[in-house]
Amino acid sequence: MIQLAHVATGALAGRNRSGLRDAFIAGMLTHAAMDVIPHGEVHDDEYELLSGAAGVIAIAARHGWRSPITMGAIGAIVPDMEHLPQKFGIFQPTLFPTHRIKWLHGWETKPLAIPAWVQAVVGGAVIGAFAMTRGRARAGAADRA
Ligand SMILES: [Zn+2]
Repeated sequence: MIQLAHVATGALAGRNRSGLRDAFIAGMLTHAAMDVIPHGEVHDDEYELLSGAAGVIAIAARHGWRSPITMGAIGAIVPDMEHLPQKFGIFQPTLFPTHRIKWLHGWETKPLAIPAWVQAVVGGAVIGAFAMTRGRARAGAADRA
């Protein structure tokens, strides 16, 4: 899946978690679940890095860094960080379980794969909704501010 889809599903998974660690783990679990769904990719590392970072920052700007929503989003993109050293030619063994299963990726040409543009539109809409509305996860903190 593309990073916008990971950020969006991670935020949704973290939304109802009470603790930050629970939210982070829930986000990571959505990454694995999303990798299993047939999906297209954007083969542009710069776009993926910047859109993922922008998505997390947009959510954190509204909900704070110590929000389960933000932590879920971060947990959902962390697994793909293991690809970064490889991009710079540094050996990094592939550790995340769904990344080790080759046939889960490269679905682009298969008919049932969710196209990257659909992931971008839906993921962007979910991130936008989080960025524009205060969830109940931070309502208490907003009242104290
Ligand atoms: Zn991944």
